[in-house]
Amino acid sequence: MLRTHTCGELNREHIGKKVILCGWVQRSRDMGGLTFIDLRDRYGITQLVFNMEVQPVLCGEARKLGREFVISARGTVAERSNKNLRIPTGEIEIMVESLEILNPSRIPPFTIEDQTDGGDEQRMKYRYLDLRRNIIRKNLELRHKMAIETRSYMNSLGFIEIETPVLIKSTPEGARDFVVPSRMNPGQFYALPQSPQTFKQILMISGFDRYFQIVRCFRDEDLRADRQPEFTQIDCEMSFVTQEDILTTFEGLAEHLFSKIKNIAVTHFPRITYDQAMQEYGSDKPDLRFEMKISGITDLSKGKGFRVFDEAEMIAGINAPGCAGYSRKQLDELTEWVRRPQVGAQGLIYIKYEADGSVKSSIDKFYGPEDLLSLLQRIGSKPGDLALILAGKRTPTQQALGALRLEMGKRLALIDPESYRPLWVVDFPLLEWDDETQRYYAMHHPFTSPVPEDIPKLESDPGSVRANAYDLVINGVEIGGGSIRIHNKELQQKMFRVLGFSEEDAQAQFGFLMNAFEYGAPPHGGIAFGFDRWCAVFGGSDSIRDFIAFPKNNSGRDVMIDSPASIREEQLKELSIRLVK
Ligand code: ASP
Repeated sequence: MLRTHTCGELNREHIGKKVILCGWVQRSRDMGGLTFIDLRDRYGITQLVFNMEVQPVLCGEARKLGREFVISARGTVAERSNKNLRIPTGEIEIMVESLEILNPSRIPPFTIEDQTDGGDEQRMKYRYLDLRRNIIRKNLELRHKMAIETRSYMNSLGFIEIETPVLIKSTPEGARDFVVPSRMNPGQFYALPQSPQTFKQILMISGFDRYFQIVRCFRDEDLRADRQPEFTQIDCEMSFVTQEDILTTFEGLAEHLFSKIKNIAVTHFPRITYDQAMQEYGSDKPDLRFEMKISGITDLSKGKGFRVFDEAEMIAGINAPGCAGYSRKQLDELTEWVRRPQVGAQGLIYIKYEADGSVKSSIDKFYGPEDLLSLLQRIGSKPGDLALILAGKRTPTQQALGALRLEMGKRLALIDPESYRPLWVVDFPLLEWDDETQRYYAMHHPFTSPVPEDIPKLESDPGSVRANAYDLVINGVEIGGGSIRIHNKELQQKMFRVLGFSEEDAQAQFGFLMNAFEYGAPPHGGIAFGFDRWCAVFGGSDSIRDFIAFPKNNSGRDVMIDSPASIREEQLKELSIRLVK
């Protein structure tokens, strides 16, 4: 080895020892006759000292080292007079005896510090420098630990990790596929998996019984902070299980990760239905770190001559504690906020419950004090609080209130960033109607089994059928989702019919799976977790990008390697592809 120790390793016990360290120059300081250099590697920072009086030549060399030069320094560990107790190596320094520049560095385009001056694009272009920063390195270390602990837990339960192919055929998970042209089959394309869904089901039919895989998936979707075109799932499948078995098995995984990674005991995983989640939180991924539940007031509000309420399908509100003192300006701003297209409400109604018990609202004309008090009571407001009310069509109103609830939770600092509140959302609708294309889509995917008692309604009243599906949500983030699967050919065919597939299309795309169902397919079910997201939630960040070594930017580009890129004319020809200009 070129070094005897790392830059994070030496302490008082090593005083007097001869050592060789290798690393990058974080910064250097000239202080009169002494030059100090902070030498950094993955493990930490160690201070090097050069003495101008004793070793003028060496010290002269040290003064010429630039930021990010990679060097090797030999010397003796000495006690530091000016100790830095915030870092493990802060009580010692190295009196350097010889120095070698292993490679110089150009001046980096941004500082390699926790608080860097580099903008996003710069940091992505020079990702190798960004990755030298503590913050990002720690994120990748966390990710590594999560992967190791996941494998260890899954292995302890007899799950085996099996790799499934990356060059496959389209699987309908609701997103666009990335495709890869096949040279040997002109005009034909592979698709990259949106998930290994059909393969893991086939593995159950093969008798593997408990499968998992930490696996890359690909979806050609518009990007957001929590989405990347390629992302990683902890993908799992089990045979001979009920929904209950899956939930308890993976509560176990979550408990294991909470304990090993965060060192906390999280054992409570409440379960709520999709309907309840929408009603109480206005979201199918509720953040349970604060209360502020939505209260329906439709029954109390109608028939008083206020047209907006009389015409609304749903009227509901939330209580903003301690906000009765909101000014006109604050209320106007909040009204603008709910009207933004992302939230989409028409307007905002408020009732102030003043500290002295009097009430004031934007609907005083239609509702007397008694009426308003009964609304406030339903919404759970106390003197000093403010009730915020939205009205309109059911689902959009719920969703807008859900967004307003999160916003108020943030503004009022009701969300404890240190706490973790997981839950299961169950009983999702099986299908979602799309007005534009005038057809149903599978809310999860077409392999999800309906709740058995709803199967008879599959063709007569598809919209009301519940799925045997579940999501794991932590702190308002959907961490994973899965379902009990269909394992019977007739039911699968029926499902494709409801989704508008012709018999031939279904056979052409999924014949292999339906045929496999005819050879002793066991009942089975599974789940997949968004690994990048889970890492981000544990790392306390909204952005999964910070937990991926080489992520893509918002336009789906890798700006470091500059991809996607065009390919040579010969390559195109070989692939039988002609570009439409
Ligand atoms: N394949 C599904 C997904 O990617 C997860 C599952 O049903 O297991 O969302």
